[in-house]
Amino acid sequence: MQDLYNPYDNVLKVVDNAASILGYEENDYATLRYPERELKVSMPVVMDDGSLKVFEGFRVQHSTVRGPAKGGVRFHPAVNHDEVKALAAWMTFKCAVVNIPYGGGKGGVICNPGELSEREKHSLTAKYTAQIAPLIGPEQDVPAPDVGTNARVMAWMMDQYSMLKGHSVLSCVTGKPIGLGGILGRSEATGRGVMFTVKNLLSKQGRKASESTVAVQGMGNVGSVTAKLLHKEGFKVAAVSDVSGGIYREDGIDVAAVLAYLNENPKNLLADYHEDGVSHISNSELLELDVDVLVPAALENQINASNADRIRARYVVEAANGPTTLEADEILQKRGIMLVPDILANAGGVVVSYFEWVQNIQELCWSEDRVNEELKTIMDTAFEAVWSIAHEKDVTLRTGAYLIAVQRVVEAQKGRGIF
Ligand code: NAD
Repeated sequence: MQDLYNPYDNVLKVVDNAASILGYEENDYATLRYPERELKVSMPVVMDDGSLKVFEGFRVQHSTVRGPAKGGVRFHPAVNHDEVKALAAWMTFKCAVVNIPYGGGKGGVICNPGELSEREKHSLTAKYTAQIAPLIGPEQDVPAPDVGTNARVMAWMMDQYSMLKGHSVLSCVTGKPIGLGGILGRSEATGRGVMFTVKNLLSKQGRKASESTVAVQGMGNVGSVTAKLLHKEGFKVAAVSDVSGGIYREDGIDVAAVLAYLNENPKNLLADYHEDGVSHISNSELLELDVDVLVPAALENQINASNADRIRARYVVEAANGPTTLEADEILQKRGIMLVPDILANAGGVVVSYFEWVQNIQELCWSEDRVNEELKTIMDTAFEAVWSIAHEKDVTLRTGAYLIAVQRVVEAQKGRGIF
């Protein structure tokens, strides 16, 4: 059953629902069903053992109606065309809901980055960049990190793109290292945005951080920062997990110790982590814990028709892209579990990417305090707008977010006209 799950169909159904509430005719939003451009590429890499391996990848631009396409590059064995299309579309609506002047794009390479040496990964990244170079650029499409990629990969992408152009083009990708045109605060931006979202949600519910427990699935860039910042804000982080499984302690785990362990060696996994009073649980058990806030921060399709009935959290805040299927969404709603959608909750990364791009183009540099303050303003404003429209129209926060986003994209398209 789950094998048939197609995240792009999921996106289209949510968009249809929002368009119908907005009173749009099919023709008003038909363009949103079709990505503007899709490119499939292959990259031959000479591996360290001398063998040749050909990797495949994609770059999809879902929309450039409101500005250049914007979206990350994923290195993961399960990357596929429909997933990249869905991720690109989510970027269109994410940029629209926080009102930054971008469309949506996404890239992916089918590979297991954990099994590649640095040299192999560099070679793959440089070739992938060269293959998608005709589509990308500061005014066309600006990649960034996603699952399996990081600032180092972005530096390699910027280097390759710059070599093709004959001069340094810092603004061609975001999420770069600080010394190469990166922005202070970018590596923490998505998790910081998730933290602002959790706080905004709980303050609407009149709940205090100190009385609230949290479980975070995924301890990568997004999950680890989310856990760290929520802990700092006084939440009790009862459980966290990675691909190897999770750890749990009812009174709260020592987040700093867990992060220190994970940072010690990139190959460290939670399955081998030991701390007094901490028990090991599976990822499915983590999702079903009796906590106040569940933060899925790993991959798509984690909360689905097979487990939505067993979710016991009061609130779900989607730090990952697409962690909840449409069927699960309906089940959670019926069960009174409030969910803040990905396009709002995890928008912090693209917001600070936008600041980085602006900085690169203007050749200036903001302080980290300024970055974090401007991020907070945008996240708070977007949360308030989504909360208000959802209550006004008596719809879920996901539908509320899409009402705002779809309207912004459709009105921009109408303004430009179709000839
Ligand atoms: P990452 O590669 O840094 O980390 C992914 C984490 O998920 C790792 O801890 C990994 O062990 C874990 N994981 C992988 N497979 C899993 C599984 N089957 N079950 C449980 N855990 C699993 O990735 P990231 O950048 O933190 O991205 C996580 C999610 O957040 C993705 O959905 C991504 O698209 C989304 N996102 C990322 C950013 C960003 O700025 N990096 C921005 C917005 C949204």
